[in-house]
Amino acid sequence: MNVADSLRVASSLEHLGYRAAPRAEEADVIVLNTCVVRQSAEDKAYGRLHSLRPLKTQRPDLVINLMGCLVGVKGYERLKQRFPYVDVFSPPSDPGPLVAFLTQGESRELEQAETHQRFAAMDGDLLLPLDERGRLVASYVAVVLGCSHACTYCIIPYRRGVERSRGVDEILAEVRSLVSQGVKEITLLGQIVDRYGKDLPDGTGLEGLLRLAAEVDGLERIRFLTSHPSWMTDSLLETVAELPKVMPHIEVPVQAGDDQVLENMKRGYTADNYRRLVERIRQRIPGVAIATDIIVGFPGETQAQFQRTVDLLAELKLDVAHLARYSPRPGTVSERRMKNDVPETEKWRRFRLLEDLQESIAAEINARYLGERVEVLFEEQVRGRWRGRTPTNKLVFCETNENLRGQARQVVITWTGPWSMQGRLPGAPAAALPVSQAVDQLSGGGS
Ligand code: SAH
Repeated sequence: MNVADSLRVASSLEHLGYRAAPRAEEADVIVLNTCVVRQSAEDKAYGRLHSLRPLKTQRPDLVINLMGCLVGVKGYERLKQRFPYVDVFSPPSDPGPLVAFLTQGESRELEQAETHQRFAAMDGDLLLPLDERGRLVASYVAVVLGCSHACTYCIIPYRRGVERSRGVDEILAEVRSLVSQGVKEITLLGQIVDRYGKDLPDGTGLEGLLRLAAEVDGLERIRFLTSHPSWMTDSLLETVAELPKVMPHIEVPVQAGDDQVLENMKRGYTADNYRRLVERIRQRIPGVAIATDIIVGFPGETQAQFQRTVDLLAELKLDVAHLARYSPRPGTVSERRMKNDVPETEKWRRFRLLEDLQESIAAEINARYLGERVEVLFEEQVRGRWRGRTPTNKLVFCETNENLRGQARQVVITWTGPWSMQGRLPGAPAAALPVSQAVDQLSGGGS
């Protein structure tokens, strides 16, 4: 979500005539977009913020914009006192305050003021930064902002505000504009993305949105995240299965495998509900990959309760598990009313145990791809190898002299590990050519 929010800011600044600088030291405007979902993320934000102070002292005309969940939606007086060298504070997803700051007092330049009027609003016209235009293959579009669910551990509803869905037309305009700038894959984002449209009068839900997005010419792949188990209807799953552009990839966090812990988290389902959901997803979407999130060491989580999470993961064998150690967040129900009583060392032990388990599960799942032919949409070159993803969101690296950016190609998988795979293009001469020779040929081209 923060990547999507940062893109929105970059877009607004490009509209005002700014261009991306390679390093903070060279920039006229620095936007620090922050996450506070766990204490570690918040600490990182403070660290970066402190490191910017000397720059501001050297160059008082430098504009520093603090943005995101550290600022939140409920006022930032304390931050303002603590960090007087910050010029602008912006809530999550909103480039408005920065644009206003940069354009204020420039009433002579009517054009700029008009630009601000136009682009501070979320009108869906998203301009990719110059160096990403025509290069960025996969991007994000926020469709639900904020969250009203209030899981007891989670700070997001307090910092991103109540749940609000963006209008269908605005979203589609944004998708079209990204596609016209070269983007081939879009991930629709929401804290509970399967609640999309519940607050809209026109009745379009996530299924309807997926159908409309699938009609956008030039868009090749669609994903969505994050889903909440309670809102994943069969007809949504059938829509995913039915639409070729919507990838067989579901992100649906379970958070814990014990019913009492789930209740303390106020998740609104049981471990059995989740089991049945995974079954339903697998029945309806052939070859689907499922990712989950898990928190270890929630207040009061006993060894026996934790074991239920271990057992559930071992039983379900999901493709990906994003693991986190419980971190008390200010103002949340768990922070105010429950004791953070699982020692840090024990949280780490539980974390590592699940990490090891998930590594072996992922290795086993990925090994099934060995020798298979899969479609990979290539995104970028990383240290000489092209990096792309399968429909199931598996990372695939490929060595070739061809420029594969933005291409969806059939690839034969030649190696698999728990976190990535390697493949080759069938019949590609690059595979037969020794690297030294290939490099020779490239430099012989005279570029
Ligand atoms: N809205 C999404 C994503 C929330 S943030 C959802 O509900 O799934 C991403 C993940 O961070 C969560 O799924 C959860 O596993 C983790 N998380 C959130 N609050 C946390 C906290 N206080 N401590 C540790 N992990 C947390």
